[in-house]
Amino acid sequence: MFNRRNFLKKSAIFTSLAGLAPWPTLAAGRKVTATGKTTIISTWNHGLQANVAAWRVLQNGGSATDAVEAGVRVPESDPENTSVGLGGMPDRDGHVTLDACIMDPSGNCGGVAGLEHIEHPISVARKVMDDTPHVLLVGDGALQFALANGFEKKDLLTAKTYKAWQEWFKKAEYKPVINIENHDTIGLLAQDKDGNIAGACTTSGLAFKMYGRVGDSPIIGAGLYVDNDIGGATATGMGEAIVKVAGSHLVVELMRQGYAPEEACKAAVERIVKKEPGYKNLQAGFLALRKDGKTGGYALQKGFNYALMTGPDNNRMVDARALL
Ligand code: ASP
Repeated sequence: MFNRRNFLKKSAIFTSLAGLAPWPTLAAGRKVTATGKTTIISTWNHGLQANVAAWRVLQNGGSATDAVEAGVRVPESDPENTSVGLGGMPDRDGHVTLDACIMDPSGNCGGVAGLEHIEHPISVARKVMDDTPHVLLVGDGALQFALANGFEKKDLLTAKTYKAWQEWFKKAEYKPVINIENHDTIGLLAQDKDGNIAGACTTSGLAFKMYGRVGDSPIIGAGLYVDNDIGGATATGMGEAIVKVAGSHLVVELMRQGYAPEEACKAAVERIVKKEPGYKNLQAGFLALRKDGKTGGYALQKGFNYALMTGPDNNRMVDARALL
């Protein structure tokens, strides 16, 4: 029943909440609808080529899920790229252990963590999603699953990463470097012309990490999250900090509340700052793609960039703004 006192009380609460909201760009709950345009966004410089591969899949009538998988397979196969797939940096014991996950527009997801000897962890993650009742397979179980599904066993350590590992041994310092070679994990989000959004995330994780260490990248909600009603988000940087705030899920939920993509990414970075006393010594960056095709990224430290593709001739790098 309408009651003026309650109404005034509620209005007062809303007014004060609105006053607190840093970026009330969209009224919470307002539906953001797709525009019929194709958009692909992915982390770091290696995103440019990944975007092209993803775009091709969409042009040929593939799904957003096919596109994100095909996109991130490009850096996974690049032996010169030392943070993803083949040629990824090993852990401190010399194992190249890979983490990846994928999420489709229906909310299905799959991941692998600590997977060795397989060049395309993202495709194993896809198989976990499509062909098993599970969400995440790890270590030897993930490898057995991959081999049983016809994936080829390979040595992923290259001459370049072997040398880097030997070099690291001289000091054996466990000190992650911010923006390693200016390209880390690839997280890629794609929206097809029907408005459907999917995402993929794949990495070799922190260079010289402890054997068995898993970061944010294969964890749904941390390294990647997609809600086809709202949008998707992906993360790069220090996995431990990103996991602690369930970063990608946080970004999507903030967009649900009305934050614009860049603003949602910034708020997630701020949450890390609040929760992580050592934040000055780490990097964390987020990318977001909203249902209406709007995109944004934001990082803790300067130096994070991302590739944004909105047309066959429009694939470019964008420097993300940073908090520090
Ligand atoms: N997020 C990755 C991890 O923590 C690494 C990175 O993106 O730099 O494993």
